[in-house]
Formats: sequence, structure tokens, C-alpha cells
Amino acid sequence: MSKEEAGVKKAAELLRQGATMLDMACPICHMPLFKLKNGDIVCPNHGKVYVVKDEEEEKKITISMSLDTLEETLFKSMTSVVEKLKNEPMDSDALMQIIRYLDAIERIRRIKSISKESK
Ligand SMILES: [Zn+2]
Repeated sequence: MSKEEAGVKKAAELLRQGATMLDMACPICHMPLFKLKNGDIVCPNHGKVYVVKDEEEEKKITISMSLDTLEETLFKSMTSVVEKLKNEPMDSDALMQIIRYLDAIERIRRIKSISKESK
């Protein structure tokens, strides 16, 4: 049995054990990597591998996704306050709320641009 066949066999075994195939390849043998139920990332040929860079990348993506969601949520909430303001243009509470929303959105955008620059 060739090394490649052994890897494929091991990969099938990992899947049977409930591991999920990742969208990443082993840096050494280029076999797809698998994530075990306990969170370990393994290569069918090399066993446990550490993909620190990808995890960092994943973390960054997660952060930017949650920032997007936050920004969207703030916008939606702000829209409802703007609607309120249309009926009562002198509602200073509503004005203060909008300023706070804009402030928060500005901060989110600043964080997003910083995390993009560091790439
Ligand atoms: Zn490998």
C-alpha cells in the first residue's frame, strides 16, 4: 500500500470517527486536514498539526464578522430613533441617542480599518 493510499484510508477513518474535513491542507504533504471532535487538527499522514497562522486568521475573520453584525445592528437601532425624531424633532434624548450610535459606528469602522492595515 502506497503512502498516499494509507493517507486516504486514514482520512476515511477520521471521518467515520466524526472528524470534519477542513478547507486547509497539510503544509508538508498537502493532504486535507481534519478537525477532531476534541478540536485537534490532524493530518492523516502526520497526525496532530498546529496551524497557528490559520487560527489567527480565523479569529480575525470572526472578529470582523461580529463587527459587521454590530455595525448593522447599530444602524437598524439608529434608524428607529431617527423615525422617532421625525415625529418629535425637538426630542433631545433621541438626538443624544443618535450621537451615541454614530460615535459607536465610527469606532467600529476605525477598529475595522486598523485590523485591515495590520494584514
Ligand atoms: Zn501531512
